[in-house]
Amino acid sequence: MPSQVFIVGTGGTIAGSAASSTDHVGYRAGAVGIDQLVAAVPALQGVPLAFEQLAQLDSKDMDFGTWARLARRVQALLNDPAVQGVVITHGTDTLEETAYLLHRVLKPAKPVVFTAAMRPATALSADGPQNLLDAVSVARTPGVQGVLMVFGGAVHRADRVRKVHSYQVQAFASPDGGPVALVESGSLRQLAPWPAGDGLGAERLPLEGAAWPRVELLWNAAGVDGAQVPLLMELARREGRRLGLVVAGTGNGTLANPLEAALREAQEQGVAVLRSTRCAAGPVIGGELPSAGALSAPQARVELLLQLLMK
Ligand code: ASP
Repeated sequence: MPSQVFIVGTGGTIAGSAASSTDHVGYRAGAVGIDQLVAAVPALQGVPLAFEQLAQLDSKDMDFGTWARLARRVQALLNDPAVQGVVITHGTDTLEETAYLLHRVLKPAKPVVFTAAMRPATALSADGPQNLLDAVSVARTPGVQGVLMVFGGAVHRADRVRKVHSYQVQAFASPDGGPVALVESGSLRQLAPWPAGDGLGAERLPLEGAAWPRVELLWNAAGVDGAQVPLLMELARREGRRLGLVVAGTGNGTLANPLEAALREAQEQGVAVLRSTRCAAGPVIGGELPSAGALSAPQARVELLLQLLMK
């Protein structure tokens, strides 16, 4: 029976350090090592654990090369018969993107559990230690599988979770369907089936950032004219990179006429286009330009990056 939980540290506020214990915003993310984060949770003593520092980033600076290294490392850990589950500590800012990426490239028969914090490790009432303990509890629960995100006592699917608040502690939700489980004093109450993952292949993600396509995010808003679309096409042409455009439309993915016309023209010339929504919840249904379903706009960008990479 595999019994070890492997924790991979990548940085974020959970590893943040501030000069004062009451400072929740003026801190440096990615400053405290994963060894110290584990040591700060007395309840983890005696739990069969291993950990490593894969990166030490503020997740606003997450990059393609780190994504590729993380995906490959997690795949290797999943292949290790001694590992029962993997926990990944990550900054909250781009967590929904990294989690969605792993959901698409892995097909884990074991739990891969992201966790994070809104308050730095040095805060008077830090949320990281409880979230880390809950994530390890989920990773140790028999039968759990798929890429998940544990935060504030809720377990979210990687393809549904969104950051919904800029600084409050309850900063994550799954607006389209709700959490998949709750962590109740270390025990799991499952509410919906575990996600399967798509298994596109971690090894297909290039380690070199420059080898990734250029996928840009555009917004529909009053008065937009789509003028940036041909400029981006020219930029990608000069760089010799494939281009994808994700547009966060208004409401059900609607677009102002000039922006829609520019995107249709781009699509005709071979640019991949995906339509998401500016709304905080709900899918994009119908319409002619391809829909990103219920993905958030940043997750739709990950989706288009993968579609172009896997072509
Ligand atoms: N800027 C931080 C990060 O995403 C925010 C956080 O972790 O809450 O790394």
